[in-house]
Amino acid sequence: MPKSADVVIIGAGIVGSSIAFHLTEAGCKNVLLIERETRQGLGSTGKSMGGVRAQFATDANIRMSLYSIPIFAQFEEITGCPSGYKPHGYLFMATNDWHMNYLRKNSARQKSLGLKKVELLSRDDIRRVLPQLRADDIVGGSFCPTDGFVDPNSVMTGFTTRALDRGAELWRGTEVTGIYADHGAVSGVHTTKGAVSARVVVNAAGPWAASVARTAGVELPVEPLRRMLVPTEPFPGLPERLPMIIDMTSGWHFRQEGLGLLMAWAHPGEQPGFRTDFDPAYLEKNLTHAAERVPAFANLAVNPRRCWAGLYEMSPDHHAILGPSPEIRGLFFANGFSGHGVMHSPATGRILADLILRGRTDVIDPDELNVQRFAEGRSIEETAVL
Ligand SMILES: Cc1cc2nc3c(=O)[nH]c(=O)nc-3n(C[C@H](O)[C@H](O)[C@H](O)COP(=O)(O)OP(=O)(O)OC[C@H]3O[C@@H](n4cnc5c(N)ncnc54)[C@H](O)[C@@H]3O)c2cc1C
Repeated sequence: MPKSADVVIIGAGIVGSSIAFHLTEAGCKNVLLIERETRQGLGSTGKSMGGVRAQFATDANIRMSLYSIPIFAQFEEITGCPSGYKPHGYLFMATNDWHMNYLRKNSARQKSLGLKKVELLSRDDIRRVLPQLRADDIVGGSFCPTDGFVDPNSVMTGFTTRALDRGAELWRGTEVTGIYADHGAVSGVHTTKGAVSARVVVNAAGPWAASVARTAGVELPVEPLRRMLVPTEPFPGLPERLPMIIDMTSGWHFRQEGLGLLMAWAHPGEQPGFRTDFDPAYLEKNLTHAAERVPAFANLAVNPRRCWAGLYEMSPDHHAILGPSPEIRGLFFANGFSGHGVMHSPATGRILADLILRGRTDVIDPDELNVQRFAEGRSIEETAVL
């Protein structure tokens, strides 16, 4: 008998796993997750910085976070696996009035959508968070204590484990090589283990989403973009609960990782592509930004062999692309997270399950994030991208 499933999900990273979890939670049992690699987490999920925040500039992203963060907080009760959620907060620091006004406007919007605990900070407040900071040019900032970090691999495992407990199936080491459509409707997929028939197929292929969509003859505007991270050796004297600290002037940001730091910065010259080698010049840039903002960080030690790079999956307006394809009935997208796929994975799973099973969702306005927005000139630019 050829294999058949009610829903096939292509890609078992954190997003595909969350969709499988939410579908099975809603009673849809015959779900097949297909992963090309022999184990999960080898795509972007395993490379992530694990940051979660609701401090965004647009309603869609704020709502996605407002749905997701409480799930991370209760993750162990929900799935039996820890999420590693550490609510240490995100602290955005402004060094000019334009940035401060931007934070003021964003925090008003965040509050109006229900993010009660976000607050604006003065320079002195910020000094208290990290006394070693050079704060002479800081005009203020914004802080939200429910922002923080999670362990992406553990979240992915929790979603997958519960989905499998409820009847979903996971094929590892299996590549989807084609999506079949018949008279404008999905009929299944072709894989390296043979054909699978299905009326619903979800593209959750992370940075590879555009090539997966192309197998169905559909153009999806998602581009891979290299992103590098720099972990440091232990650094004594850090406060116990250091938030993610973002220097808005340079975009350089860092958080605590073990006894050291994990640092990142969006290289403005980075071009789209699949390269994931680590560039030593990037390490130097990070250390320069670090020493400029925190003079004591001039003594940070870094082992370049511990640095790594992965891929963001960029969409043209830095928002996810969620929902059905307008061209092929039964084909759904959960792509283009632009660096926010870990933090938005719970909301994404719920939205996709809602749209697949009921054709509607109340987590967000689904029209805002559908793929048609680009052709129809309705892009909603997210500017709070790190
Ligand atoms: C350095 C870095 C730091 C980041 N920091 C953060 C952060 O702080 N917070 C945050 O929220 N996000 C962050 N992100 C982004 C986040 O990691 C991604 O948005 C998220 O992991 C996307 O999950 P995914 O499941 O869609 O993709 P992936 O994890 O890439 O999973 C896609 C899977 O699809 C599989 N696949 C692809 N093609 C096929 C095929 N044809 N057949 C079968 N399987 C296939 C791949 O093998 C892969 O396992 C970061 C990313 C990077 C690279």
